[in-house]
Amino acid sequence: MSKKYAVIIVGGGIVGATAACALAQAGIDVALLDARNPARTWPADPVDIRVSALTRASQNILRAVGAWDAMEQRGIGPYDHMHVWDADSAGVLHFDAADTEFSELGYIVENRVIVASLWDQLESLPSATILCPASIMDLQLSDNSTQITLSDGTALEADLVIAADGRDSALRQMAGIQTTGWEYKQDGLVATISSEKSHQFTAWQRFLPEGPLALLPLKNGQCSIVWTLKHDTAQDYLQLSDAEFLQTLEHATEGVLGKILTVGPRGAFPLRFQYAQQYSADHFVVIGDAAHAMHPLAGQGANAGLLDAAAIAELTIKADQVGRPIGSHKTLRQYERWRKGDNLAMMSSMDAINKMYTTDNEVLRQLRGTGMSWVNHTAWLKNYFNRYAMGLRDDLPALARGI
Ligand SMILES: Cc1cc2nc3c(=O)[nH]c(=O)nc-3n(C[C@H](O)[C@H](O)[C@H](O)COP(=O)(O)OP(=O)(O)OC[C@H]3O[C@@H](n4cnc5c(N)ncnc54)[C@H](O)[C@@H]3O)c2cc1C
Repeated sequence: MSKKYAVIIVGGGIVGATAACALAQAGIDVALLDARNPARTWPADPVDIRVSALTRASQNILRAVGAWDAMEQRGIGPYDHMHVWDADSAGVLHFDAADTEFSELGYIVENRVIVASLWDQLESLPSATILCPASIMDLQLSDNSTQITLSDGTALEADLVIAADGRDSALRQMAGIQTTGWEYKQDGLVATISSEKSHQFTAWQRFLPEGPLALLPLKNGQCSIVWTLKHDTAQDYLQLSDAEFLQTLEHATEGVLGKILTVGPRGAFPLRFQYAQQYSADHFVVIGDAAHAMHPLAGQGANAGLLDAAAIAELTIKADQVGRPIGSHKTLRQYERWRKGDNLAMMSSMDAINKMYTTDNEVLRQLRGTGMSWVNHTAWLKNYFNRYAMGLRDDLPALARGI
């Protein structure tokens, strides 16, 4: 005899936990499964090396699902300027929150802060169940519902199973959904640094020949770096002594933060372009990195996943309210049409920017510099890019619109 839920979500990272909160808040009977319990408390130091730059749209979603206040209490870092410049041309782009109706452009938040705040919120919702640690042995899709068997033999059934188990999603594979993509042969090297000069609440990004170096302002005055490097270079930089790394980094930043004083633990993540060929199957969808893995150069992966979570939650809640079965083919196709094109457009632009900034072609280099300066001096175009980067575009799910 299997235990039945309206929705089972596999993967309680940023994206899956958000979908779970949104559904449970609307009274939908939802179970969240994860292989691991996330940390809820930690010592003040060091900062988590994994952080996310969150857009205004993501802030709206996280506020709507009831996690934002707890995130603020745990610590979030607002930024009101973004400064982008090119090492190989005169191209510069500068965005200022003063040119928008908002006081910040976005927030830099440790991933553990987002996940812990979402899980706290989920635990307070009566229609949510957390099954953790849980390991999935089998998935069976059918016309009527989806069945899951856990490795301890527990049988579960749901009208809709949402796979939010990350870019190597086991559920996506079990459902027979293929992916298209390639390895970038670049790593994102991440670490937390402190510097002589203030970060000035600015997200800095310098395009270097191997890839962009981002210096993201944290609440405690430090910066989180995300440095895209060729895989071999990144592995070499992991081996440098702290003193050698600080010197290399300072040179790469062009001294924009003055002397780089300290660096915490370093990590490197291989980067991949990958998308699921289908977002849905019978009573089954993929969201977040399970559906799309993109280059982190504009920090959009989690933001895109949060829009997936808000979209599938909105469609499921609406279907339930009008008495349509949860997980119907119609609802899942609507979700796929809504999110797949938007995600592909975002991923493709990240990919094109990465290619344009790592090219050896001198003509293209000069063109990109001219292009950046042109955008910087063209108010309407700059405003368009600014709003896009803040996640404020047409066709957003209601939760992302802050209404
Ligand atoms: C260097 C770097 C910098 C980035 N910076 C940004 C940024 O600034 N802004 C931004 O928006 N995005 C950024 N991203 C992307 C962002 O980190 C991801 O898009 C986001 O974390 C994906 O969240 P997710 O919940 O979909 O998946 P994940 O975070 O991968 O979570 C998956 C969850 O599923 C669980 N799980 C996995 N397998 C199973 C299983 N078989 N059974 C049960 N549970 C399972 C895991 O334990 C985990 O909790 C960055 C990525 C990188 C690599």
